[in-house]
Amino acid sequence: TIKLSQRVQSIKPSPTLAITARAAELRAAGKDIIGLGAGEPDFDTPTHIKDAAVTALNNGQTKYTAVDGTADLKQAIIKKFARDNQLTYNANQILVSCGGKQSFFNLAQAYLDTGDEVIIPAPYWVSYPDMVLLAGGKPVIIEGDIDQQYKITPEQLRSAITDKTRLFVINSPSNPTGMAYSKSELAALGDVLREFPDILIATDDMYEHIYWADEPFCNIVNACPDLYDRTLVMNGVSKAYSMTGWRIGYAGGPESLIKAMKKIQSQSTSNPTSISQAGAVEALNGDQTCIDDMLGAFKQRHDFVVAALNEMTGVRALSTDGTFYVFPDISDAITAMPGVEDDVAFAEALLNDKGVAVVPGSAFGLKNHMRLSIATSEANLKGALERIADFINGN
Ligand code: PLP
Repeated sequence: TIKLSQRVQSIKPSPTLAITARAAELRAAGKDIIGLGAGEPDFDTPTHIKDAAVTALNNGQTKYTAVDGTADLKQAIIKKFARDNQLTYNANQILVSCGGKQSFFNLAQAYLDTGDEVIIPAPYWVSYPDMVLLAGGKPVIIEGDIDQQYKITPEQLRSAITDKTRLFVINSPSNPTGMAYSKSELAALGDVLREFPDILIATDDMYEHIYWADEPFCNIVNACPDLYDRTLVMNGVSKAYSMTGWRIGYAGGPESLIKAMKKIQSQSTSNPTSISQAGAVEALNGDQTCIDDMLGAFKQRHDFVVAALNEMTGVRALSTDGTFYVFPDISDAITAMPGVEDDVAFAEALLNDKGVAVVPGSAFGLKNHMRLSIATSEANLKGALERIADFINGN
């Protein structure tokens, strides 16, 4: 047998991708499967974006670009940050990467040393803890449960901070819960962080545009402008423009940090795909109404799914602020089901018995929940919800 690195043995494969793969396998074997596992919009990439990429391809934009992104794309990102987020960056403060995933990967590699602690609120996006572990860091998880809308409190943050804490990660609106922090909640977290000037903050704004709360979208730098110098703002085109396969994410932040992240990228992937970058320029600079069309569909599905879930015995689903996920608490349903001991067993049995793929809450650091992606047709959602209700009722 081949002896593998301790590094790789310290992590697990992405559980969301694993569920999606398992559902595809069952489907290929002829089973009738409804997949609510995947974290990607079901819409096609808007035509004007695809056209821009085709034009770039035909015009020979098929060579290496600058490692950190083309000048055009960096300008489009600078403009986007100014327009949507009232944040000012120069070109040396921007790094374009192969998806939002690589932005965080670069951050972990460039910033963390062995034993450095990273505070991650749970439920979290599955990749944060594993990328921290790969970099030798130590994830410190704080849990926000349903009674606090799955958000953490300033007191929880304060008690998690030690003299080894180097990074605080915040993702709002959140994958998997769909909840967003309000400006005043962010200000309160900022009040704590202000007392610890050595802690860097990473805000993951990937779902910024898939958002329907009353208050306008806001991140921690908007709430606490004095934290600008120690905050990395991460975003990307994957979710807002239905461009998951294009692999374009980006980050804005302190110049020295961006430069270090760029160095990591220069020794791993180099530039993100040139053609995808041309598409991303059009996504950010072009007509933004495509976002609203998708948003309207997600909101409608959200309302339907949350209502249907709350009809089920032992299931409690909160209305969310955005994203295309719903994250119901199923603890009472689990307790009532003989032979189903936890959310992992629940998801497994649901897939095997009823052909519905969901991701167990444990994958996101909060047991007794499941994540449903609503990025699928209403017909699929209706079918899935009927099957879930049958499953819970033992039919
Ligand atoms: N951040 C969050 C919170 C996400 O949910 C995702 C995708 O699932 C990403 C970042 C990464 O997106 P991508 O690498 O596809 O751009």
